[in-house]
Amino acid sequence: MNKSDLMTLKINGQRLWQRLQSMAEIGGTANGGCNRQALTDEDKAGRDLFIQWCEAVGCSITIDRMGNVFARRPGRNNDLPPVITGSHLDTQPTGGKFDGVYGVLAGVEILETLHEHQIETEHPIEVIAWTNEEGARFSPAMIGSGVWAGVFNEEYGHSRTDAKGKSLGEELARIGYLGEQPAEAKPVKAAFELHIEQGPILEKEQKQIGIVSGVQGMRWYDLTIEGQPCHAGPSPMEVRKDPMMALAPILQRLYQLAERHGPWARVTFGDIKTEPGARNTVPERIVLAVDLRHPDQDTLDSMDQSFRRIVEEESNPRGLKVCVRDEWNSPAVVFDLNCVDAVRDAVQSLGYSNMELFSGAGHDSVYVSQVAPTSMIFIPCEKGISHNEAENVDLEDVAAGGNVLLQAILSSAIR
Ligand SMILES: [Zn+2]
Repeated sequence: MNKSDLMTLKINGQRLWQRLQSMAEIGGTANGGCNRQALTDEDKAGRDLFIQWCEAVGCSITIDRMGNVFARRPGRNNDLPPVITGSHLDTQPTGGKFDGVYGVLAGVEILETLHEHQIETEHPIEVIAWTNEEGARFSPAMIGSGVWAGVFNEEYGHSRTDAKGKSLGEELARIGYLGEQPAEAKPVKAAFELHIEQGPILEKEQKQIGIVSGVQGMRWYDLTIEGQPCHAGPSPMEVRKDPMMALAPILQRLYQLAERHGPWARVTFGDIKTEPGARNTVPERIVLAVDLRHPDQDTLDSMDQSFRRIVEEESNPRGLKVCVRDEWNSPAVVFDLNCVDAVRDAVQSLGYSNMELFSGAGHDSVYVSQVAPTSMIFIPCEKGISHNEAENVDLEDVAAGGNVLLQAILSSAIR
């Protein structure tokens, strides 16, 4: 096949769709979703099926000590670093059919497309299923790719336990996926991850493909404001040291902050506790969970500064004590420009409607990008609903995303 034929090569969208449905039967729920949590019997069955499909198209399989599965299609020169793609097969307890699975099975479809057209690439190609991306059974999320990228060590990975006290290492061994190869990165030519958007933007903008240029930075805090408890009746308003009186303007000003740094800033207060938590007592203490996000690190840093300042400005004059505890800090990720270009070129030559966006959720690519040139491709997901049994996508978009992934991989692997 010459180069111009390669550029018009397409995947078989129907076959990819069928595979998505077959995989969804493993751990399928009554409501049409999937419960295939990491390292359960269902996860084992899903992995087995993935391996069976890859071996059928001539790939060799390697499993590392974190249970990450690598299906390798040799290239003309196997000393060259591979072009890699993949995502995860594990799901949330009430997860959907497409989150993660789509990226892995699109990889399988590409292996089969190359196999049936007998296409040789210069670089080898590897399709990867990363372990425990969801973090639903074992925390933290993205631990398989995290250990591989050197963010965590193997011992830490193996020692993670589920709610019943079973360790990740034990469960890997139990299902037969404790591999022998060390879980560590090796040189990679380029890495691509295809995923459903898990948000509403592509659907709203009526674009078929999202060219993902990075991942939002995220900062989590516990904000504690302390005052003085007193009776709700006899205590006049002006003498109170009431943390709620500071909270009201803090929330308002932080929402304004998000607006000022729009459209990409995110400010979320997902949890609040009051102590002692009685209807007729001014609370002594409130603890608020705060989540700030922005794809631009400088902007996120400035939001962090504003947040701390606003909290002080609203609490100090009211005689309240504040404490901001940092819970998590995940810096913004900017994907590799060449990999983003490869995706953009593919989308443009295929003629799909598209837009550039950032990922608001974490993905294996966050860690992979620390050690390899990486980018991501999104397709729309219905109403932006994900981590939900109702998660749904369109067959045409599934095929389009697969074609973009195929062309991005080919452009990196043929030379
Ligand atoms: Zn995912």
